[in-house]
Amino acid sequence: MTAFQVEPMPIEGSFSNPTALHTLALAIAGMSLMIACAGLVSYLIDDNVRAESLEHLRRMALNDMLTGLPNRMNFNERLDLEIELARQRKSRLALVGIDLNRFKEINDLRGHHAGDEVLRILGRRMSNLLREGEFVARVGGDEFVAIYRLEEQAGLIDFLSRLEAALYKPVRLDNYQVTPGASFGVAIYPDDASSKVILVNNADLAMYRAKADLMHSVCFYEPAMDETVRARRNLAADLREALGRDQLSVHYQVQTSLSTGEIRGYEVLLRWEHPRRGFIPPAEFIPLAEEDGVILQIGEWVLREACAKAVSWKPPHMVAVNVSAVQFAHADLPGLVTNVLMQTGLAPERLELELTESAIFVDRERSLQTLRQIKALGVSIALDDFGTGYSSLDTLRSFPFDRIKLDQSFVGDAVSSPQDRPIIRAVLTLGKSLGIPVLAEGIETPDQLALLIEEGCDEAQGFLFGRPVPLSQILGSGQIALTGNDHERLGVVPS
Ligand code: C2E
Ligand code: MG
Ligand code: MG
Repeated sequence: MTAFQVEPMPIEGSFSNPTALHTLALAIAGMSLMIACAGLVSYLIDDNVRAESLEHLRRMALNDMLTGLPNRMNFNERLDLEIELARQRKSRLALVGIDLNRFKEINDLRGHHAGDEVLRILGRRMSNLLREGEFVARVGGDEFVAIYRLEEQAGLIDFLSRLEAALYKPVRLDNYQVTPGASFGVAIYPDDASSKVILVNNADLAMYRAKADLMHSVCFYEPAMDETVRARRNLAADLREALGRDQLSVHYQVQTSLSTGEIRGYEVLLRWEHPRRGFIPPAEFIPLAEEDGVILQIGEWVLREACAKAVSWKPPHMVAVNVSAVQFAHADLPGLVTNVLMQTGLAPERLELELTESAIFVDRERSLQTLRQIKALGVSIALDDFGTGYSSLDTLRSFPFDRIKLDQSFVGDAVSSPQDRPIIRAVLTLGKSLGIPVLAEGIETPDQLALLIEEGCDEAQGFLFGRPVPLSQILGSGQIALTGNDHERLGVVPS
């Protein structure tokens, strides 16, 4: 505010009208007072707004905006305090790691908006169930964590069952409902851990165990879990070295056309011969490689190896390479495929990539674009293990697949189980109506083969036609010959 001075105004050279001057002076004084008051009021309002903003910022810093629950920072501070309290009182506390079971699926199938709504509802449910000495925070996408001051075990069990009830109660969204479910991992301070870091780590270990356990949603930490994790980490480290040490190789399994009986191609299946443990099945090491990230290098190696070998096959059969969901999500697959095809000289029409639905669901838009780019190169795409995952009709409708691979679990029991045959028939009908050939996996017996031929299946693969074997064995059998000098390099005598 600018200071100002009030002086009586000279009228006609003298102060001839004192009443008017008095009134004027009073009016000016009144105005000045109003201005001063307005200044004071606005200052007070400013101060309130400032305090509100600060409170808002503080809330933002300590709470998750979506659910209103405390956030990771808040949780960290609270856990420090609770551990200190337990230490002073010589009492115990339980840390509960919570991970939603079906959140990814809700997000993928119903969209992020529905995902957010589910998180908001679950956040509200959890915050409403809390009592004295109980705390819940959201620490990641669908990860929550709870702290419970542990006086007696029965109280903890009651707390866990309240949490379980809140997360397993169905959530209604517009015209459908979902049951998110969750896995809970519990670690106790100080019984299971002497420090905060170890406590958090152990609750996490227990939570992962709960996730893998289909029978129990709650799992308490046990020291043996450390051993399992350590063993997995060691194996992942061995796997990282396996590539450079020539421990990886590929086997080939024949794929046959049922209408002509001719070979249509070979699926490439990775093999790892561990120096101490011998052959480790892909079902064990592929998930490990995905967790570790080394799948990117391994996947590239398999693709290169498969294309480099197939280029000199005679006749020029197709070669089918499995692509992991992680590889599909992270690597520039169209770029890699282009590069490998160029370097090896394999015709794109001879390469097929096998993908599972889980690879596509991560980001449908991006997946569709990637698949189109790969198809534009002339490479085909097969949908692997159909029937085991989402088996969504929408996937089949929206993606340009060249082949559906019916999972072996349906073929295995088809002859004896009355339920599996209608499923096989339905998938074959679906393939026919969409114009996509269906290849049945895992054919082991002539009965299974007869059934599939009767149902009009297009192609098949399984032990009945041939087990996965090294290339040298296929060359030895005469199914494939090599052009150029490749048989000499492989040490195989063509038959
Ligand atoms: P998949 O792609 O569905 O491969 C077929 C699996 O079924 C192979 O198991 C094969 O050996 C097995 N199989 C074939 N015919 C029969 C049969 O008649 N009966 C039975 N019981 N099994 C049969 P394998 O080689 O153990 O591979 C398992 C899975 O590991 C593969 O399933 C695939 O998902 C993955 N995998 C293998 N190699 C690679 C790879 O190079 N990259 C990636 N990302 N995954 C791979
Ligand atoms: Mg496959
Ligand atoms: Mg398969």
